[in-house]
Amino acid sequence: MSNEVNAKKIMDFLAPRMGARFKTWLAICAHCGLCADTCHHYISSGNDPRMIPAHKVRYLREILKKKGKVDKDYLRRVYETVYYECNMCRRCALFCPFGIDIALMISLLRAMLLDQGIAPEGLLKAIENYKEFGNQMAVSREDWLETLEWCEEEVGEELAGLKIPVDKKGAEIMYTVNAREPMFYPQDLMEVAKIFHVAGEDWTLPSDSGWDDTNLAMFCGDSDTARIIVENTFKRAEELEVKKVAITE
Ligand code: SF4
Ligand code: SF4
Repeated sequence: MSNEVNAKKIMDFLAPRMGARFKTWLAICAHCGLCADTCHHYISSGNDPRMIPAHKVRYLREILKKKGKVDKDYLRRVYETVYYECNMCRRCALFCPFGIDIALMISLLRAMLLDQGIAPEGLLKAIENYKEFGNQMAVSREDWLETLEWCEEEVGEELAGLKIPVDKKGAEIMYTVNAREPMFYPQDLMEVAKIFHVAGEDWTLPSDSGWDDTNLAMFCGDSDTARIIVENTFKRAEELEVKKVAITE
């Protein structure tokens, strides 16, 4: 199998995104190492110098210098670093005297890899699901509503009069969940319904896309899908004319 990559495609992706901020950060890093001790990967690896935050973004500098002329083995190394050696917590940025945001550069590298079709399988699947079903677990509208219905029935046996309101116009709170809840943990939905009921809150859940507020697309720098996920929630909130959106994720 060929080890070649399309250098032009890499540069077509990176060049328009390399604004003044990224260029400045790459240029002003003093390699002082002050960010090292702030990174849990560095500490937990026994102070492995490869785990120093500033070192992890060397790829960005190198790829730009080589004008994208790298190979697949190189991109695999980038992948290992940006997914398994940094979880984009941004702690290092708080301690850098220049405020260099390593996590943003890692995010850009993740986005560049995604453009090359490289991302963890689970995230790629979740992105497909968001696009098709509006949630990461591919829960259909029918299954979502059916789950809420039987949750209401079950928990209603415990607390008389309890309702799980769907699409209630003008409710105070629109509640959103993680799609894993209807799929694997409906008990969580029932517990939340009990809390809202006992607290006497005026709440609702939307029937259409917008109820799953996990945003796994963001983790691989897929800002287009990430935006759709957020927009879905706000569209539902506007349609239902709710006053607040409660996001648990
Ligand atoms: S990112 Fe900031 S703290 Fe880390 S080496 Fe560069 S200048 Fe120093
Ligand atoms: S953003 Fe990445 S490099 Fe910086 S402290 Fe967090 S895990 Fe470490």
